[in-house]
Amino acid sequence: MPANTDQTETIAAPAGLPGVDRLLQDARLSDLAARAGRSCVVEAARTVLDDARARLLEGGRVDPDGLAERVVAHVAAAAAPSLRPVLNLTGTVIHTNLGRSALPEPVIEAMAEAARQPVDLEYDLLAGRRGSREGRLEARIRSLTGADAATAVNNNAAAVMLVLNTLANRRAVPVSRGELVEIGGSFRLPDIMRRAGARLVEVGTTNRTHLRDYEEAMAARPALVLKAHTSNYSVIGFTKAVPERELADLCRRRGIPFCIDLGSGTLIDLERFHLPHEPTVQEALAGGAELVTFSGDKLLGGPQAGVIAGRADLIERIKKNPMHRAFRLDKLRIAALDATLALYGQPEQLAETVPTLRWLARPLPDIRAVAERVTVHLEPVAPDGWQVEVTDCFSQIGSGALPAEALPSVAVRLTPQAGRRKMGKRAAGRVLRDIAAAFRALPVPAIGRVGEGAFWLDMRCLETPETLLGQIDSLAWPSPP
Ligand SMILES: *Cc1c(COP(=O)(O)O)cnc(C)c1O
Repeated sequence: MPANTDQTETIAAPAGLPGVDRLLQDARLSDLAARAGRSCVVEAARTVLDDARARLLEGGRVDPDGLAERVVAHVAAAAAPSLRPVLNLTGTVIHTNLGRSALPEPVIEAMAEAARQPVDLEYDLLAGRRGSREGRLEARIRSLTGADAATAVNNNAAAVMLVLNTLANRRAVPVSRGELVEIGGSFRLPDIMRRAGARLVEVGTTNRTHLRDYEEAMAARPALVLKAHTSNYSVIGFTKAVPERELADLCRRRGIPFCIDLGSGTLIDLERFHLPHEPTVQEALAGGAELVTFSGDKLLGGPQAGVIAGRADLIERIKKNPMHRAFRLDKLRIAALDATLALYGQPEQLAETVPTLRWLARPLPDIRAVAERVTVHLEPVAPDGWQVEVTDCFSQIGSGALPAEALPSVAVRLTPQAGRRKMGKRAAGRVLRDIAAAFRALPVPAIGRVGEGAFWLDMRCLETPETLLGQIDSLAWPSPP
């Protein structure tokens, strides 16, 4: 253990630390205990003293006058919610790691209202007795999609699991080899199928599947045929997939339900916003699917949920599965999904009302204007060796939707410049990781993206730059080597 020489500022040995009781006599801590209760202050004091002791044993230094302040900070941190708002400047609009869709304001209000007080969640106000928990959601989904019936559960993975377990437990389910998807976050279709009790029958090849491949699979007497929207990749080149309508016809002739896992599931044609076409729930149903499953927090722009829409008798069986109870929505998300679906009753307003759609449909000049404002502020404070500029880039929708389609966008690009010596690849990699970390360390962390020898802040999802601009002065710039 290195010797401690500076006796005025540090305590030489663990024995020199105050005990919990003495520490609590500090006026700041007795005030805090009066406001927040004694137990959390005692708890924090123990933690701070334990840390100090460990530091001293390792030969480090501890300032005894700073202990009370550390306890105060500890209590404040423990009392604050630990989920932190961040700025999504990654260019991926529906970012699973950043919580996917931001909710529309009326949806947030509906959730808060349901959170605050009792609601008629499962209560019939006219009859004065127990009512339907799902009636209101089902009515909205039916009217928006044209489906005969519908139900909503915890997420789309649960929806797929429920469909398979209800209709295909211990039975065969043919799926094209080109559609055996893995979605980030451990949704792998073959694993879900196994856990649901369904027996996967692989059909066709990775790049080509023909109708006759499905016809052959009928020998296994399948319980249903599942088509999964290949949402996070595309197979290009020498490919063939069976058109949904042909597959639906085959299934109808054989009396087998045809189910489509749409994944993203949009209720409106994205071409309305000059975005590439993504199959809608209505199209899937009109094309002959008897059940369609989709997420609530991807292109729908609402809360996490999984919707199952389609044939009434199949939905009825699904609702009776005990798993349906295990996957059910709570009042907060029923309120949120209900309010989200209500917005779809005014489709012309969606590009305003639903943030996910607003960001996807955002006009390029708006994005550029924000990029320019940020650059004007960032440029003058950037240390020598950093180039800051407005640059065209591409965003992506994210969460699996339209993988191959990039959306033109505008970024603020920060490029480290080689100094007297040419910067090596590794040194450049390090300084880029450091600048990314510095933006993440801001009070409201800004999450960008490193690539092509630069750090990119895509401005698509930043509607007002004030939060970012207000904290630029506290940015800890790394200096390029
Ligand atoms: C995203 C996705 C899922 C999983 O949906 P969650 O709502 O995240 O559970 C399942 N299937 C497909 C095709 C998807 O794109």
